[in-house]
Amino acid sequence: MAIQPIRLFGDPVLRTPATPVADFDKELRKLVKDLTDTMMDAPGAGLAAPQIGVGLRVFTYYVDDQVGHLINPDLDLSEECDEEGEEGCLSFPGLSFPTPRAVRAVAKGFNMHGEPVTLEGTDLMARCFQHETDHLDGILFIDRMDPKQRKLAMKAVREAEWSGLAAPVIRMSPHATGGKAL
Ligand SMILES: [Zn+2]
Repeated sequence: MAIQPIRLFGDPVLRTPATPVADFDKELRKLVKDLTDTMMDAPGAGLAAPQIGVGLRVFTYYVDDQVGHLINPDLDLSEECDEEGEEGCLSFPGLSFPTPRAVRAVAKGFNMHGEPVTLEGTDLMARCFQHETDHLDGILFIDRMDPKQRKLAMKAVREAEWSGLAAPVIRMSPHATGGKAL
């Protein structure tokens, strides 16, 4: 297991477009494993590489008991949209909001061995593919909300206990902790 810390909203890496994967090597397979382990531990329905601080176009998903990954994804979306579906993000812990998304998505890309893969998803799976591919473009789910909903979401973000913790914080304690991490 190689669980990595998940970057929170406010961390610039979440706003940085990721680079296409060129080398389908051992390093990439380790990244897929780290993403999968971190996603399953959270637990979450999906995780994109920038969320663990890696600027490569890779995401993992865990929807309807299916675990998988996709590299260099390219999406084809249905016209039909679900305006009301609730969506959360591991970079916004504990928060979820109605977020408009296409109901169906066809995601083309590669597996970690460099073989072409086509994934088809509806509902939650389609939502996951869109959410994670957005992460690779530096786009967050708040950007997909209508302005009124985004305002409500940003208020909840400001009030969240993790708000402002995106930068590393070093806490000093005057008490002995018996060697335990706080
Ligand atoms: Zn997310």
